[in-house]
Amino acid sequence: MGSHNPLAVRVGYVMADLYDLVVIGGGPGGYAAAFYGASAGLSVALIEKDTIGGTCLNRGCIPAKAFLETAAVARHVAHSADFGVNSTANGVDFSVTQARKQKIVDGLVKGLTGLTKSKKVTYLLGTGSLGAGKTVTVTAADGSTQQVQGKNVILAAGSVPRTIPGFEVGGPIMTSDEVLMLDKLPQRVAVIGGGAIGCEFASTFADLGSQPSRPRHRPCQRRREELQEEEHRHQDRCLGEGSHAKRQWWHRRLVRRG
Ligand SMILES: Cc1cc2nc3c(=O)[nH]c(=O)nc-3n(C[C@H](O)[C@H](O)[C@H](O)COP(=O)(O)OP(=O)(O)OC[C@H]3O[C@@H](n4cnc5c(N)ncnc54)[C@H](O)[C@@H]3O)c2cc1C
Repeated sequence: MGSHNPLAVRVGYVMADLYDLVVIGGGPGGYAAAFYGASAGLSVALIEKDTIGGTCLNRGCIPAKAFLETAAVARHVAHSADFGVNSTANGVDFSVTQARKQKIVDGLVKGLTGLTKSKKVTYLLGTGSLGAGKTVTVTAADGSTQQVQGKNVILAAGSVPRTIPGFEVGGPIMTSDEVLMLDKLPQRVAVIGGGAIGCEFASTFADLGSQPSRPRHRPCQRRREELQEEEHRHQDRCLGEGSHAKRQWWHRRLVRRG
């Protein structure tokens, strides 16, 4: 069982603090691991290059749910007569929606920052890169560096939005990151990607009065085929050559399960 106070060890010519656990990435994966480690009595350093909370809190689940809630209010007002409540909606001021969302996010970030302190997790703001001997170099925004060493190191660097070749992000072409920073509703939106996130945005914009549209079938179909090929290549890498038969078997099993 380790202590909360790290030891200092020599790494080459520089001294590095030695922790029982070093976590790179302060998203839900990283901060949960850091907090569990600290609760178990380990000395823990948590390294985050941007804002604690990661994608989920800052650019994902939480802001998207805040937008969805606004959409639900708009939908209720629009259909209030069905409930015998007569009301009229006078448009949506999306800058207020944006400000409300940011307030929720900021409050949760503050809460998590407080937890790092109360759990005595050392929070280091900077980009972590793993070197030899489980040494992690943390580079701050101003270029200054410091080194920490972990008896154990967890990489919880998460993911970034996937872009599509030929669609450079900028102006009207946005990933979920940019959509969640909008402070004005677009009149029309084409959502590419019908997964959970795409459907969530399409539903939000539909309720708020933007007109979400599906792109023409062919580019979508082509992209789906590309993604399918990519998925098959990935399965080949994971399951080994001849994964086609295994894939068919899984498919049949899933279909049988309904
Ligand atoms: C729009 C949207 C809506 C979503 N809605 C839901 C939902 O409703 N429910 C759900 O379960 N999931 C949802 N997700 C997915 C969810 O956000 C992710 O599954 C979750 O955030 C993954 O957590 P993570 O800790 O693995 O990675 P992340 O949350 O991506 O965190 C990784 C962190 O590591 C940091 N980092 C990366 N590299 C370094 C480095 N070298 N040094 C220091 N720090 C680094 C990043 O800045 C980031 O803060 C949604 C995602 C999006 C985009």
